[in-house]
Amino acid sequence: MLYAQLRGNNQGIIKVTTKGIARDPDCKPITKEHETLLSANLDGGKNAGMVVLHEAMEIACHKATEHGFGICGTNNTSTSTGALGYYAETVAKKGLIALVFAVSPEFVAPNGAIEPIFGTNPIGVGIPTANGPVVLDMATSAYSFFGLLEARTAGKRIPHGVAIDGKGNITEDPNAAIDGGAIKTFDGGYKSSNLALIVELLAGPLVGAAVKDKMSEKNWGNLVIAIDPKMLGQQEFEKRAAVVTERVKGAKKAPGVSEILLPGERGDAFAARVKAKGVIDVESNLWAGLQELAQTWVEPSSVTAKNGSSTSYGQTVRGASNSSSKSPGGPNGWGVATRLVHPQTQIEDPFNSTNPPLYQTATFGQPSATTNGPYDYTRSGNPTRDLLEKQMAELENADRGFAFSSGMSALMCVTRLVRTGERIVTGDDIYGGTSRLLDQVVPKVGIEVVHVDMNDLAAVEKAINGGPTTMVMLESPTNPRLQITDIKSISDMAHKKGALVCVDNSIMAPVFQNPLELGADISMTSATKFISGQSDVTGGILTCVGEQLGKDIYFHQNAEGLHLGPFDCWLALRGLKTMSLRMEKQQANTLVLAEWLEAHPLVKFVNYPGLKSNVGYDLHNKQATGTGSILSFSTGNVELSRIIVEQAKLFKITVSFGNTSSLISLPCFMSHASIPAEVRAARGLPDDLVRISTGIEDVSDLVNDLSVAFEIAARESGVNPNTERNGGPLTPAQIREDELLRKIAMLEAQLE
Ligand code: PLP
Repeated sequence: MLYAQLRGNNQGIIKVTTKGIARDPDCKPITKEHETLLSANLDGGKNAGMVVLHEAMEIACHKATEHGFGICGTNNTSTSTGALGYYAETVAKKGLIALVFAVSPEFVAPNGAIEPIFGTNPIGVGIPTANGPVVLDMATSAYSFFGLLEARTAGKRIPHGVAIDGKGNITEDPNAAIDGGAIKTFDGGYKSSNLALIVELLAGPLVGAAVKDKMSEKNWGNLVIAIDPKMLGQQEFEKRAAVVTERVKGAKKAPGVSEILLPGERGDAFAARVKAKGVIDVESNLWAGLQELAQTWVEPSSVTAKNGSSTSYGQTVRGASNSSSKSPGGPNGWGVATRLVHPQTQIEDPFNSTNPPLYQTATFGQPSATTNGPYDYTRSGNPTRDLLEKQMAELENADRGFAFSSGMSALMCVTRLVRTGERIVTGDDIYGGTSRLLDQVVPKVGIEVVHVDMNDLAAVEKAINGGPTTMVMLESPTNPRLQITDIKSISDMAHKKGALVCVDNSIMAPVFQNPLELGADISMTSATKFISGQSDVTGGILTCVGEQLGKDIYFHQNAEGLHLGPFDCWLALRGLKTMSLRMEKQQANTLVLAEWLEAHPLVKFVNYPGLKSNVGYDLHNKQATGTGSILSFSTGNVELSRIIVEQAKLFKITVSFGNTSSLISLPCFMSHASIPAEVRAARGLPDDLVRISTGIEDVSDLVNDLSVAFEIAARESGVNPNTERNGGPLTPAQIREDELLRKIAMLEAQLE
């Protein structure tokens, strides 16, 4: 309404003065009558037309953004809605072409008739151009109904030729036009009459708005169509549209014409004048109407929400709105633990189940042979997977999220974005499976992979700029040495070169780190780890920034069948709920273990970013909100490490990490065994390195368990912890200091 009033369009006035925006006492929630991937129809439940049209516009835009095209109709609204320029402009501002239609009550006579049959039936069109949206907002009537009302109350005459009386004679008397007469279509001819009829057919019968007696049934409708110009392969649409509009603006002018105006410019100029004045002139009858309306205002807080619980999966499908989820802390400013438990994405579910519905199906029945439902085949999309993908996108403030059958298939998909002849730059301390993919699979299609020490920014820059780099794939912290990589600086370097950056965030997960906020384009989290938390799922998630990137990832996920199955998605969704709780406890336990290990005479060094002694401590704490629960340490003796691993009873010997149970492994013999020994040696990955993934057990039990394992290992391997370190004898002072440090660590563990 304000938009209309600012632009000198009387829609706002009509609504207020005709009491057209008062809430219908019988109004019900807006519901979807029909929905496909590209379309939806809304039963407005006798809500005000503006409210329903707004929702329809958002649905059409969402579908067009996701799939290139969106169409949404509305019916059963208690009022008609004009001022379509507002909706057309809003759609066009998103880079989409908008077509918006409306039916309104019978005030207008079709050509040749003397009876009002049509509404003023406005049309709005929005075209995105490089200079901003060009917006057409026009009614098909010669004069506005409000003009008649205004003239009647003011006792004024109306312009000649815009209305007829009940006998079909042209009248300048507003009363004669209102009481039994009609307004004419805008040029009074058959063309504008036909246009009004076409708009009526589109926004009336097509969407289910009553057509028999609009006045008594009070069932109005709108239709919104949103089209992504890229649907026609026209990436350059906005620039080309600007060429056309510039030609129009530059056309030779008729005598006395100073400027040729584009659709919308007159309204823009009017709005600019009003804004410059700083005051909106409001007609006295509008002001009175507004005051009357204000008396009926009810504070939203005193209205009981019917569907207040966001843990419910019921009601309408609402995609994770990208723009609303951009703010840190999510749309409601909630912390990550809350966001994990209360996802904003919901799914249509008639039973309002508290847990996500599991669509364990490969296929979905279609409405007809020629129309598609929202889902057809699970490889292409599944509602349970949608919930997981959208929640992950929400958590990382990403534009889109994708669930894959494993972390590796997610990373494989990332490498699909790189073409033959191009270069991937990656780290020299990365997960063994990633190393295998990059060194043994990707080069087969002529992609060059360059490993570089990611701590050496000059070397990274050289590697990026030294060839046709289009992708940088990094981990931070790295697996297994927990090295910290400067995500922001490397993202900046990569972007300068036009390359994408993918960060493997598996060790931090969205609970502790968001690579996208640090400048990365893609974030990968192995769902096998902390998302599942129980080692009962293999899965991988990609989240990304950028519409085209999202489309490219989706293309490969679908084309190559890399998706995560519905039941695994369901398990991952369940895991997400407790992820923060688990990770916090695992982290607290890890800090105790790390300090205990660091003080142990048999330990050469500990890799853990939560230790102040760690070189990456400052950088990591700048990038992340936690230090996680993975650490690795070296004893300098493979046999000693082997026995420790085998003797630790509470620590299961497994690959992977993130389980509720503590896990222990020798990476060079397990998760990283696929990296050739000489490459491991060259990368500084010692065979004696032990990796721990801490669980949620009582930390004192973990310390005791490790302590016993160390004692047995020392005995069996013949290494004396009290007399040797790094191969050399200890001084008595060092022995006393070590003993003291171990006692402090133990005490801390007990306190915990
Ligand atoms: N990235 C890292 C850092 C990993 O440790 C792993 C697996 O251990 C992966 C990726 C691969 O994930 P997945 O096992 O789910 O394929």
